[in-house]
Amino acid sequence: MNGQARAWRELDLDALQNNVNVLRGLLPQGCALMAVVKANAYGHGAVPVARALNAEGIDHFCVATVAEGVELRSAGIMGEILVLGYTHPSQFELLYRHQLTQTLVDVGYAALLNAYGKPLMAHIKVDTGMHRLGEKWTNTEALAGMFSLPHIRITGMFTHLATADGEGTAEKAFAKQQIERFYAVVHVLEGRGIPRPRLHIQSSAGIFHHSELHCDGARPGMALYGMLSNTMVKGLQPVLNVRTRVAALREVAAGDSVGYGLDYTAQRPLHVATLSIGYADGIPRQLQGGHVLIGAKKAPLIGRICMDAMMADVTDIPGVLPGDIATVLGSAGNQRITACDIAVQAGTIANEVLSRLGERLEIRAAMPQLCPAAGSHVCVRAG
Ligand SMILES: *Cc1c(COP(=O)(O)O)cnc(C)c1O
Repeated sequence: MNGQARAWRELDLDALQNNVNVLRGLLPQGCALMAVVKANAYGHGAVPVARALNAEGIDHFCVATVAEGVELRSAGIMGEILVLGYTHPSQFELLYRHQLTQTLVDVGYAALLNAYGKPLMAHIKVDTGMHRLGEKWTNTEALAGMFSLPHIRITGMFTHLATADGEGTAEKAFAKQQIERFYAVVHVLEGRGIPRPRLHIQSSAGIFHHSELHCDGARPGMALYGMLSNTMVKGLQPVLNVRTRVAALREVAAGDSVGYGLDYTAQRPLHVATLSIGYADGIPRQLQGGHVLIGAKKAPLIGRICMDAMMADVTDIPGVLPGDIATVLGSAGNQRITACDIAVQAGTIANEVLSRLGERLEIRAAMPQLCPAAGSHVCVRAG
């Protein structure tokens, strides 16, 4: 099957390369770009994205789950793969077998991981105020103790900022406090003669808003994919395009309704295109009333978004035929629909829109620049 059959994701790997270069330009010398490719690389496809990044010389990756780490290793991804989230003891074997690095979410968890008995690598997470994961920053005794667990090699230590994207005074002050707390821990450990592990704090927003930090690594996710959670950033380029096909065309008389629940009534005779993509593919139902691009022209979405289909008004776009391509997200000609546009309409952030894109959307990743140099194994093409 080729990836252009019904509905698909098309990766612009030149844009990914551009974003890597932008981020590298912002990070200090020697600071590793730890690419966050969790949730299937925010819906872009973890394997094609990680392969492209590996070819770009990136050898640090972050995932949320052990299964995501195993998927990358099985696809031949090299370098450090840090599992940011919780791994159940029944899956410690996978950490060991696939050489994954586990986050120590607190001191009790560290003891549990050590009790597994085989050598494992880990990064310590410090809770400096977000109160999600991490050992509390004031528990310096517990944090220091993690360095002497016999079966665990500590290769990094990190924290996560709750307000990295905040422009307000309170948010800025809170981020500053979290950073100070983290470095307070670092200094206590250094005072005890513990060799300093690799330190990392910033996610995408942190890289842009706290560029003063000089860490050993940074963990960008969204910025790699071309934006921040709900803002487009000058210089970054969106990587993803979601496209679908016109399945059928219908003439709808004025006064007739379109779709479920008689929710939309034609005010004039309409030419309606049924598109072969729906909410099961990750298109939010709130996109009702939005638009898609057909031949670089805006076609309003009318009626409710269905599970596998949605309808667009193409009355003002002459010549649309079954099989034509419609762009739901991304660019067509000089028009673009961003994940931020969709997120705003759906009342959420682009991260959620992207990471919820459905498995049914095949991934097509053309690598015009990378293929010749990097060898055929990095070329991911459907069909
Ligand atoms: C998801 C995640 C990131 C990446 O966040 P972005 O805002 O997408 O850059 C970084 N660090 C941790 C701990 C995360 O969970």
